[in-house]
Amino acid sequence: MRHLITGGAGFIGSHLAEALLKRGDEVFVLDDLSTGSVENIRHLKSHERFHYFFDSITNKQMLAELVDESDIVFHLAAAVGVRLIVESPVRTLETNVYGTQLVLDAASKKKKLVVTASTSEVYGKSDKVPFHEDADLVLGATTMSRWSYAASKALDEFLALSYWKERKQPVIVVRLFNTVGPRQIGRYGMVLPNFVRQALDGAPITIFGTGLQSRCFCDVRDTIESILRLVGTESAVGEVINVGSDEEISIEGLARVVKKRTNSESAITYIPYDQAYEPGFEDMQRRVPALTKLQKLTGFRPATPLTEIVDRVVAHFQEKAGKELPAAATRSSSATASV
Ligand code: UDP
Repeated sequence: MRHLITGGAGFIGSHLAEALLKRGDEVFVLDDLSTGSVENIRHLKSHERFHYFFDSITNKQMLAELVDESDIVFHLAAAVGVRLIVESPVRTLETNVYGTQLVLDAASKKKKLVVTASTSEVYGKSDKVPFHEDADLVLGATTMSRWSYAASKALDEFLALSYWKERKQPVIVVRLFNTVGPRQIGRYGMVLPNFVRQALDGAPITIFGTGLQSRCFCDVRDTIESILRLVGTESAVGEVINVGSDEEISIEGLARVVKKRTNSESAITYIPYDQAYEPGFEDMQRRVPALTKLQKLTGFRPATPLTEIVDRVVAHFQEKAGKELPAAATRSSSATASV
C-alpha cells in the first residue's frame, strides 16, 4: 500500500513512516519543517520506498498529486505544543483549520481514507475523567490563547465528521493523549523531553504550577500500533477514538521518576504558570482517556510502563549527545554512562 503522511518529519509522523516502511508499504511525506525536523527522517531518506517532499500542505497542487498517489492519508501536520500555541495563535489557527480543510477536500475527490490527528486538549477543563469520546468539551474564554488550540482541533473534528456525513468521505479521528518517545523535543513545551534534558544536564527540573496536575504518557510505538490497527478496522470509519495510555502520574511524580532513572542530582523547582506561559494561564488538572472504544475496535490498548518509556527517551538523549560530541569526549561520556 501507499501512504501520505502530512507532517511526516515530525515526532509522531516519523515513527509512523518507519512502521509503514517496516510493513513493506510505500510512504510519501509532506512536511515544511515548521516544527518537524529533517533529523527525524534522515535515516529513512535513502530507503527506496520513502519519498520526502519539502512543502506546505497549503500547496494545493502538490497535495493533490500526493493524495492521488496514496491509498491512505495520515494527516498529522499541525501546530502543536502549548508554548507554540500561546506564542503563535494565528499560525495555530491557520495551520490547523485551513490545512485540514485542504487535506479533506483533496482526499474527498477520490474518497481516500483520511486519518486525522486530534488531541486530548479538546476535552478542555472537563473534570469528568476518564474522558469518553462523546463527553462534553469544556473550553475556556477566547481571550486565553491556549484554548485556540483545542478550538482549532475541535473544528478539525467537526470538519472531518461533516465530510463523512455529507460527502461520504471516509475519515477516522484519533484523539491523541500525551504521546512521548525518542525524537520528541522540548522546544514546544513538552514536559518529558524537557525534564530528561534538564536532568541529564544537571539543571533544575522545572515543574510548572504545583506539579499536582496529572497526565498519562503513551509510548509512541503504542500510539502507532493503535492507529495502524484502526485503519484496518472498517467500523472505525466516521468515528472519534481516544488513543493514549491510562497510567496516570502527577507532573511532580514524573519529575521524580526522571530524576531517579537518570541518577540526576538536579533540584526540582516550581515555576508559576503565569511565568511559564502567560498571565491567567489555565492548565488541565487531570487528563485520562477512556480506552474502551479503542480496545473494542482494535483489541489493543497501550500498556508500555512509564519507566520503560522514560528509559528509552533518556537513551535517545544520551545517544544524541554522544553524536554531537567530538570523538574523545564521546568515549569518556559513554564510559560514564555505563558506570
Ligand atoms: N510542564 C512542566 N514543565 C515543563 C513543561 C510542561 O511542569 O517544562 C507541565 C505543563 O504545565 C503540563 C504538563 O507538564 O501541566 C504537561 O505538559 P505538556 O506541554 O507536555 O502537555 P499538555 O498535557 O499540557 O498538552
